[in-house]
Amino acid sequence: MNGDSPLRQNYERVLARIDRACEAAARPRASVHLLAVSKTFPAADVLALAALGQRAFGENYVQEALDKIAACRDEWSRAGASLSWHFIGPIQSNKTRPIAEHFDWIHSVDREKIARRLAEQRPPALGPLQVCVQVNVSGEASKSGVAPDEALALVQACRELPALRVRGLTAIPEPTDDASLQRRRFAQLRELHERIRAALDPEAAGGFDTLSMGMSADLESAIAEGSTIVRIGTALFGSRLPLRSPLRSPLRSPSSGA
Ligand SMILES: *Cc1c(COP(=O)(O)O)cnc(C)c1O
Repeated sequence: MNGDSPLRQNYERVLARIDRACEAAARPRASVHLLAVSKTFPAADVLALAALGQRAFGENYVQEALDKIAACRDEWSRAGASLSWHFIGPIQSNKTRPIAEHFDWIHSVDREKIARRLAEQRPPALGPLQVCVQVNVSGEASKSGVAPDEALALVQACRELPALRVRGLTAIPEPTDDASLQRRRFAQLRELHERIRAALDPEAAGGFDTLSMGMSADLESAIAEGSTIVRIGTALFGSRLPLRSPLRSPLRSPSSGA
């Protein structure tokens, strides 16, 4: 890893974008956290970014994540620091155990059954799992996430589970280049977050402090609307190939399509 590696340049660019967006929104820089979304990229890339100072990483696929977390733990614990792992993908109910055992945060809780299983399966020694309820703010276009008018009930259900600490809301709106539409969807999540916080008892409201929204293409809009965690993949690691893509096999025939 030399001084002007592409990863370092990307990391510096993303941090500068977050700095500028915070300035433009008159928000303290410390109010926005960068989650590096490392799905489909190898442990070596996680370790390289960790060496530049990044500590929080997001993953979508359970098996891929477990292998990577194990590899990073071996390497990185020698440096005496720890990385935090955030699960941000859809959760199947038969995959809750490894998620509860290996992650620090879950951004994608969208039904009570999943919340209960995560709580039951969380090893007490690890302390509570930090969770965000994922809300479907773009309507029928996206299938995952609870409907906005059901989010309060799900937050309340999570509050009943001491192994979980419900921290806020997540949105993954359909991608759009229209900045005003981006802003509107993120504003919807912010307003919903404010309404839910107002409905919680004061102690719970204090810890309900997270808005997980904004990705590579729209982090500025998300920060303008109050995001506290931006989840950035492409702008850090480059564009993703599908897992086990034929593009990765060395003898791909040129006639097999674009
Ligand atoms: C892949 C992914 C991201 C990162 O998206 P980029 O556009 O590559 O920054 C963020 N959030 C979720 C839920 C994802 O699945």
